[in-house]
Amino acid sequence: MNWLVAALTVCVLAPTAHCASNAIAWCYHLPSCNDATWPTIATKFCNGTRQSPINIVSASAKPNSNLTAFTFNNYNSSTALKKIQNSENTVKVTFGSGVGISGGDLSEAYDSLQFHLHWGNGSSSPGSEHTVDGKRYPMELHIVNIKSSYKGNTTQAIADSTGLAALGFFIEEMSGNATGQPASWRTLTSYLANITNSGQSVPMAPGISLDDLLVGVDRTRYYRYLGSLTTPACNEAVVWTVFKDSIKVSKDLIDLFSTTLHVSNSTSPLMINVFRNIQPALPVTTQRASSSSTSTTCYSLALMALSLVLGRSWSQ
Ligand SMILES: [Zn+2]
Repeated sequence: MNWLVAALTVCVLAPTAHCASNAIAWCYHLPSCNDATWPTIATKFCNGTRQSPINIVSASAKPNSNLTAFTFNNYNSSTALKKIQNSENTVKVTFGSGVGISGGDLSEAYDSLQFHLHWGNGSSSPGSEHTVDGKRYPMELHIVNIKSSYKGNTTQAIADSTGLAALGFFIEEMSGNATGQPASWRTLTSYLANITNSGQSVPMAPGISLDDLLVGVDRTRYYRYLGSLTTPACNEAVVWTVFKDSIKVSKDLIDLFSTTLHVSNSTSPLMINVFRNIQPALPVTTQRASSSSTSTTCYSLALMALSLVLGRSWSQ
């Protein structure tokens, strides 16, 4: 997650390494500052005990009946996405005010601030941060939310073990040979050519909503755990929600991220493999088994009972 970049970056560094809130130069692509070094260059939190991302073992996720549906405020607004930016290690889209979430067993309402993405090297070399049963998806989208009571004060939020809430959505390659689909993602990726260099940003025209981008995902089905930021300083302040369904995007659009964006200027390396590796397992909860499998089981039991009754009547 790169959510604190805008709010807390206060120093200037070499173009190949990123400067986080506590003046730590970190990166994904150099041995001197990649994620293997974070526990030593950002010891305060990156070597902690509730670090993200994790591999989610679906069979080990405990049922939790409190994980109700969310309410999404202004996720249907076609004017909520304001700006898209190359922030050196990701693409970030910032939101206007009034976008937020509540429900979903969160302790209070949260304001949605921005989303950004993690990816590998094209659709064939996946780069999601979370994995599920060992499966890594091509990309992962993170929507960053802050407790509404903090009124946007991220310094306060990262000092609270549930100050931030992150929504994680997997992005997977659309089946078939479709190109330029879905239209919402064609629109989003059309901006990438204007932000090829680090620090560049452009305003987004009205047109696509968050709902448009989150197409095809049943947002009542998700995993929940308490974790951290996935970039330095790795603060353990995040309520994680990782949705089970993936967003399906055509291969050509997925590939644009790893072939268009540079970590610095146009002669610098392309931005690839922008994700942190898996951290030690943490307790995960989820909704109870879906009603469809329950009804299938009931149906099977009913058939068995019926066959027993019929069998008995025929034998009498
Ligand atoms: Zn992220």
